[in-house]
Amino acid sequence: MSNTWNKRTQMVHGGTKRSHYGEVSETLYLTQGFVYETAEAAEARFLKAGPDEFIYARYGNPTVRMFEDRLSGLVGYEDGFACASGMAAVNGAMMALLKAGDHVVAARALFGSCLYVLEEVLGRFGVEISLVDGTDNAAWDAAIRPDTRLVFLESISNPTLEVVDLAHVCDTAHRNGAVVVADDAMSTPVFSYSKACGVDLCVISTTKHVDGQGRMLGGMICGNRDLIRGPIETYLKHTGGAMNPFTAWVHLKSLDTLDLRVRAQAAATLQIAETLEGHPKLNAVRYPQLPSHPQNAVAMRQAESGGTVIAFDVKGGKEACFKFLNALEIFTISNNFADSKSIVTHPATTTHHRLPQQQKDLLGISPGLVRLSVGLEDVGDLIADLTGALAAI
Ligand SMILES: *Cc1c(COP(=O)(O)O)cnc(C)c1O
Repeated sequence: MSNTWNKRTQMVHGGTKRSHYGEVSETLYLTQGFVYETAEAAEARFLKAGPDEFIYARYGNPTVRMFEDRLSGLVGYEDGFACASGMAAVNGAMMALLKAGDHVVAARALFGSCLYVLEEVLGRFGVEISLVDGTDNAAWDAAIRPDTRLVFLESISNPTLEVVDLAHVCDTAHRNGAVVVADDAMSTPVFSYSKACGVDLCVISTTKHVDGQGRMLGGMICGNRDLIRGPIETYLKHTGGAMNPFTAWVHLKSLDTLDLRVRAQAAATLQIAETLEGHPKLNAVRYPQLPSHPQNAVAMRQAESGGTVIAFDVKGGKEACFKFLNALEIFTISNNFADSKSIVTHPATTTHHRLPQQQKDLLGISPGLVRLSVGLEDVGDLIADLTGALAAI
């Protein structure tokens, strides 16, 4: 990889490791282990593996390393550790850095599984968690203390699209000696602003935009080399959270088109958000790039796009909402997002059904809330599908 390459070039060529055959397409090294010429060579590698030497696929693999170099370079970090899923990455980042008695501050608007790791898993091991309104800078400043070890947030929250002022939170955290871990699943690797704002560890569910075609589960933790090849790699290589080489290979193929796909999806998302805003059957249309979004100014200072997901509330609650969902023909009902196929989700009864009602109310997960993920279909067809289904209510 060259430091002078722009992102589009980095995504096609970054981190390439060619074998002696000089193949054009990246090689799938589908191997768990590696052989050593001599017993001395094995001994030497276990003492200290060089930067392009491997021991066991749970520790690292050449195809996985290509993917780590390429994606971490894209989001601006020195290094990355690829994981079996986005949750293996979130869990790995926390477990690698925290111990009993530590204090963590997190935004309360979190993906259900992230909340489980924080409250249930870390709570069981004696980590103290404070949850704050992620959009309130004063709340972060009040909650982060000199003994706070780690700050966790989703840069754009799933499913209600709350936007955190990352530079402000990083500044407060760093003045108190805390590490900032940002989950960039919704902000996308193409429009990620974590590095520019000072985030220490950027966690990405590569299941989302990187795969983008509904096939693979994957995750990645990006950061500086000391953290990634230090505590993060040590924890993950011994606890089995590594990505498998086949996933890394499919992901490498996806990176070729990531920028094109995400930009096309984001442009269509903005057009749909602008079309739906003010629709008589909707209460609120939330998209960071709309001037009506409560954190629009912060969102647009941080990123050039609001991403590929819209949230809105259908008037008439669950019954009207289900009529709308069932009347859609192109948008499919599912619980993933960022796919090339457009997807609708009803968070209150699916992804977030386990949250107590009080928490749903607090987070704005209303009975009429829809999370809309915009794919690569013709935007005119998508708008016709949405307006047609709204007319059917
Ligand atoms: C999907 C998602 C995850 C988990 O990713 P998986 O790859 O499904 O494990 C974590 N955080 C956020 C914000 C997500 O949207």
